[in-house]
Amino acid sequence: MDVSLCRAVSVTTEARSRVPLPIRAGRIGSSLAARAYRVDLRDHLIFPGLINAHEHLHVNTVPPLKTGAPFPNSYAWIAAFQAHFEEPAVIAALQVPKELRLRHGALKNLLAGTTCVAHHDPWHPALDATNFPVTLLRDYGWSYALGWPGYGPPVQHSFAATPADRPWLIHLAEGTDTTAQAELTQLDQLGCLAPNSVLIHGVGLREQDVDRVIASDAAVVWCPTSNHTLLGRSLNPQRLRAAGRLALGTDSRLSGARDLLEEMRGIAARRELSPQQVLELVTTQAARILRLPSRGSLTPGVPADLVIVEDLGGDEERSLVGIERSQIRAVVRNGVPCIADTDFAEWFAAAGMEAVPVTLDGKPKLLAKSLAEPALVALEPGLELIADRSECGRDLIMEGRC
Ligand SMILES: [Zn+2]
Repeated sequence: MDVSLCRAVSVTTEARSRVPLPIRAGRIGSSLAARAYRVDLRDHLIFPGLINAHEHLHVNTVPPLKTGAPFPNSYAWIAAFQAHFEEPAVIAALQVPKELRLRHGALKNLLAGTTCVAHHDPWHPALDATNFPVTLLRDYGWSYALGWPGYGPPVQHSFAATPADRPWLIHLAEGTDTTAQAELTQLDQLGCLAPNSVLIHGVGLREQDVDRVIASDAAVVWCPTSNHTLLGRSLNPQRLRAAGRLALGTDSRLSGARDLLEEMRGIAARRELSPQQVLELVTTQAARILRLPSRGSLTPGVPADLVIVEDLGGDEERSLVGIERSQIRAVVRNGVPCIADTDFAEWFAAAGMEAVPVTLDGKPKLLAKSLAEPALVALEPGLELIADRSECGRDLIMEGRC
């Protein structure tokens, strides 16, 4: 179905445009089709779908470790976590089939406007499902961490097997002690510091290490909430961002923020970066670092993955960087709405997409039926199915919300 998104301002890091945004066959079009379905988006802004550069999709329902922080490094946290595996709540969370937990992690991302995710763990067949809720980084290499060689592909072998034009990801310098500070040099000595090296966390990088990362054209994925939770501090993002070598990740809810929007909101609230700079991290910089040329932009030919929000006035980026997921008006993948406010019901119908009424953090929404599996929805706090309009709660009906 051809669609024309009219009267909105399309916002990327490079440009603003008031020209109607055409969608043809699920991609951004180069011209408007005469018979396109028109969506009136006056007073709205259209952003590219967001990129989460670091996530462990399958553990977002596992209860976090409550004690021991701050840890000197991630290995100390991993060691402390071993006893946590005996907790009944953790055992119960891990008894949920991994396939469902992976889908849940993806749904968590999608609800917050994230349409593309770098999942940092062994590949699982469930990730290949055609109806998986987000697009995943593919064709990449990875290791887990220098100090935990027993888990994940061996470092040098994995790096050597990764083509130079594909990203190679590893947790690195996730700590504040000398162990973490030594890791960049170790990586370099192993011959694994290169322009396609993507270093997750980098909290232990000192000034001279940041110089070396930038000089190598390598990159860092910043996960500030996870860092503060586990380590008591994070990195200074300024120089890496200015060099175009910084992306943003949530990690999982084991240590990280609820979602990428919360992470973005926190950065802006702490005034670590401007909203414009935060938008760069989750669109253009992430796309460049992860070698995803069709992500993070609205140029003709790229998949029509979009986040649509209300224009709150002022700098456009502030209408996205600073809101919560329930405030998003619509999240669109491949030109089709996935979750949206209820007044977009006709768009779902025009796209041939059956939608199911839900509430998200108390706000009525429509969720694509393919994502509305009860077992999946049940894993996400704040998301509730409204099984049937006739069963809507009396309060919702009284408020005209159902
Ligand atoms: Zn991680």
